[in-house]
Amino acid sequence: MLTGKNVELKAGVLLIGDGRLLENANIGIKEGVIHEVSVDKLEEDYDDAVDLSNRFVMPGLIDAHVHIRYGPKQETVPSSDEYQTIRGLENARKALSAGVTSLGDAGAIRNVGFAVRNAINDGLAVGPRLFVSGEMITMTGGRSKKPGDRLEVDGEDSARKAARSLLMYKGADFIKLGTTGAISSAHTGPRHPQLTVPEMRACTEEAHKCGKMVHSHCYGEAGINNSLEAGVDVIVHGQSLNERHLRLMKQRDMILMPTLKTFCGHLEHLGEGGVHDRIVTTGIWEETEPNFRNALENEIIISMGTDCGMPDNHFGDNPKDLEYMVNWGMTPMQAVTAGTLNAAKSLAVEDKLGTIKPRKLADLLVLKKDPLKDIRHVWNSLEYVILNGRFL
Ligand SMILES: [Zn+2]
Repeated sequence: MLTGKNVELKAGVLLIGDGRLLENANIGIKEGVIHEVSVDKLEEDYDDAVDLSNRFVMPGLIDAHVHIRYGPKQETVPSSDEYQTIRGLENARKALSAGVTSLGDAGAIRNVGFAVRNAINDGLAVGPRLFVSGEMITMTGGRSKKPGDRLEVDGEDSARKAARSLLMYKGADFIKLGTTGAISSAHTGPRHPQLTVPEMRACTEEAHKCGKMVHSHCYGEAGINNSLEAGVDVIVHGQSLNERHLRLMKQRDMILMPTLKTFCGHLEHLGEGGVHDRIVTTGIWEETEPNFRNALENEIIISMGTDCGMPDNHFGDNPKDLEYMVNWGMTPMQAVTAGTLNAAKSLAVEDKLGTIKPRKLADLLVLKKDPLKDIRHVWNSLEYVILNGRFL
């Protein structure tokens, strides 16, 4: 459609991304950046105008937890880094066409996530913005059953060095910690604590020194306690938060990324073995809904994050994460905020993304139907994805 650099959009309904909306609003975009937003006539002149007065306009979605390198089925022999990078570009493209204009890649391997991010940023491939953690920092054997497969640390100095290397050498956009075992690593117990508090604290200090967020993968009381003690910013998964956890999270404006798409999606594949069945046999599944509802009731900041890339958790249907949130008690408006502003906060990029306001990057979605009536309209009535002010 339109590729004009300076464009004015007339939106029937504008969802700002922070829980508010404007009717009959005008958005002025210059050089890919939102320049002004007003229900009155815009102050400046623009090269083109697009009439979306019978449409709904909202910020592009931010899926802040994916694994860009994986294919839809778990591989017995992992493919090469080069192959995983190419697959990552295709995964990113699929997410973008589904309305996800930013992705957080939470633990790839070696340079894969960085290569996908940099190729898109350099214009070699079309894709959403990527914010990548690089490798997840784990204890020895925390994810892998053999040495060299993961970024493994032992002790505070070694953890600090790993975080510094990711942040300084690779330009990691955030740090991901393997605080407990995982459902996807069968040799670990998902509630068994892994990294120690001093190890995690060292990583957190280094990330915070350069304004980056720390995401902690954890299940169970001990892992969540360790995360809180180490001062991380985002609890990923987070079954099960007790009263004290919720109180501290609220006090500190911490974010919960419940990754509902991965848990609810696995349930559709029960009996197929592997990760699908382990979410039930480990007892994690039964904690998932009450935990989410509890966090919602306690007004914890909740962010979108799908874990796309896990087995049968496909790129391209990322927005379904929001439907699961609504099924378990969120209003559609809260779900929109979870997928926009809150997800931007989880990556510390809310100064440039997540809401439709002046000085933010013009990543927008145009919908034919009202997402506040039915959250599924975010994807089943998606008409245009706008990235950097350009209609794709
Ligand atoms: Zn994950």
